[in-house]
Amino acid sequence: MLAVMGAMDEEVRLLRERMEIAEEAVHAGVNVAKGRYGDAEIVLVKCGIGKVNASICTQMLIDLYAPDRLIFSGVAGGLLPNMTVGDLIIASHLIQFDVDLTAFGRRHGESPDRDRMIQSDPQLMDLAAQAYDAAFSDDAAARPNLMIGTIVSGDRFVKDSDTLRWLQREFAALATEMEGAAVGYTCDLSGLPLVVVRGLSDTAGEDAPDDFTANLAKVWDTSFRLLDELIPRAGA
Ligand code: SAH
Repeated sequence: MLAVMGAMDEEVRLLRERMEIAEEAVHAGVNVAKGRYGDAEIVLVKCGIGKVNASICTQMLIDLYAPDRLIFSGVAGGLLPNMTVGDLIIASHLIQFDVDLTAFGRRHGESPDRDRMIQSDPQLMDLAAQAYDAAFSDDAAARPNLMIGTIVSGDRFVKDSDTLRWLQREFAALATEMEGAAVGYTCDLSGLPLVVVRGLSDTAGEDAPDDFTANLAKVWDTSFRLLDELIPRAGA
């Protein structure tokens, strides 16, 4: 079974409308919808914002639903100067940027006995890239840019140019958000293959809060087109 997660209502709403729900349950404070999405058997959840919510929800899904793959999707702030709202990012790697044991000579994001980089599953990354090709092949005008690289996560909405420059330089990151690396860390502990796909709602600078609010619905429509192709492929 395939697990599909988002952090906010907006991020799961279109998927929920499209899926056939067979049963619903509440565990660890979140609603879990189980059913079919096309031919794929899936569980869909909105985990809430931030790394704690994301980890709890991921572990709950692993323990109670034993998924064999997990897709996390949502919006993020872009970190490169030429990025635009609506660009899509497939995470190859994920790092928790706010884990700070530099006092002990470690790198930002590094914790004892664990690499700071968490990897997305290569096969799921391939499927996500194929889904992008399929979703926008007939519609060049609506086709967003696609980038593959590192996404960083922390319990902070980034909205200033000093922080975004630091994230870009310290982690060679393409985008920042608040859940992906926590989901990745939790999946890693149980050997569950995952991929994180994000659409840019903002570019993490001073305008980020306004951009985020203004763009959420539009960006999610774009991400949905990719997910609508990815879920059947990943859940086959
Ligand atoms: N609307 C919420 C806050 C949203 S937080 C409220 O009412 O309080 C932003 C969400 O979008 C998080 O789930 C995060 O993963 C993602 N996100 C988008 N842009 C971001 C940015 N610039 N920095 C951090 N997270 C961002």
